[in-house]
Amino acid sequence: MHSIDSAIVEQNGFRTINQHSRNAPRILLTPGPLTTSELVRDAMKNDYGSRDAEFIATTRSIRQKLVRIVNGEASHVAVPLAGCGTSAVEATISTLMRKSDALLVLINGAYGERIYRIAVKMGRNVVALHWPEDVPIDSAMVRSYLRENTSVTHVALVHCETTTGILNPIEKVAAVVSQEGKSLILDAMSSFGALPLDVSASPATAIVASSNKCLEGTPGISFAIVEKQALENSEGNSSSTVLDLFGHWKNFEENGQWQFTPPVQVVAALDVALNLLDDEGGPTGRNQRYQQNMAVLIEGMKTLGFECLLDLTVQAPVIATLHSPKERWYEFTSFYKALADRGFLIYPGKVSGFDTFRVGCIGAIDAADLRRFISTVKDVRDSSISSSPKSGAPVSFS
Ligand SMILES: *Cc1c(COP(=O)(O)O)cnc(C)c1O
Repeated sequence: MHSIDSAIVEQNGFRTINQHSRNAPRILLTPGPLTTSELVRDAMKNDYGSRDAEFIATTRSIRQKLVRIVNGEASHVAVPLAGCGTSAVEATISTLMRKSDALLVLINGAYGERIYRIAVKMGRNVVALHWPEDVPIDSAMVRSYLRENTSVTHVALVHCETTTGILNPIEKVAAVVSQEGKSLILDAMSSFGALPLDVSASPATAIVASSNKCLEGTPGISFAIVEKQALENSEGNSSSTVLDLFGHWKNFEENGQWQFTPPVQVVAALDVALNLLDDEGGPTGRNQRYQQNMAVLIEGMKTLGFECLLDLTVQAPVIATLHSPKERWYEFTSFYKALADRGFLIYPGKVSGFDTFRVGCIGAIDAADLRRFISTVKDVRDSSISSSPKSGAPVSFS
């Protein structure tokens, strides 16, 4: 087998991907885009006419399957749009909120912050409640805030905050928001399809996610699953054309077609990915595989002396945040490169106040891939220790 090294060409000091390296196996231990299965990538080898009956049927199929994942057939519709996940977050706020509405964002990480900044930039009324990045959102505090601040109409939060990998208690928060008569906007980007989510247990006006995370599709589609009632009342709210879910929805309802050019290959790949999710037993089955992946990852990294940022009771089986070792051999960029050269792509840390890095366990990968990753980390560490000047000596901070 060719090593990944030989597949990478250097151009002006930058590594680029050439024809050969496209065939080299690469495991993405990131929060997305992720490792996809060959069946999913194969669906992208054809061309599809966006106004053709076959493609219209594929679009209908993905819209139905997306709604079914959260048990929303009776009340919700799926509105996909072309773009990264953030575009659906922006479109949802822009479409569902009237100018006079007010949004409360519950923040314990960078993606919650992003929702807040999107609303500010759009000129909407927005306030925020903050928690430390390693602490889940507290529904009791949300309740008392909503009782004291009755002008709030919408509440937004992130299900799995990918900044750390922490799981927020969605059922509890959704119950509070619904009891207080507010609308919930849930960013379920890094959990959708893998963590159980049911609109009858967690009432949400909108659930936002994308094709390329736990659904294991390719990147290029984001979507919102929206309460039909809320969508019907949303005409004219969005000042954008491309980010107006109402406009897209009307078009889907009228002729089954995307309003503007759809990423046809990505749609076809997502349809296959959704079938594979079904074959795996839906979110329950996928959750089991990710739980196993996470268990192998955490156990293995602990054995090698790495420490997790989060308490395991609040860790979602999505991405782990690990403290950077305070040892002389470790330096993120060279650690990253050594792992990448061996086929594993990890992710930098994003937590404030700590030096960390992240390793994901989602995508079309299994426990055996994670075991290979652990032994690769061991090899990299061992060879870094033996090649560093004062091998194994602790760093002196004097
Ligand atoms: C990945 C992610 C997003 C969207 O990211 P994009 O880069 O726009 O696709 C939003 N929220 C969360 C929690 C995420 O993990």
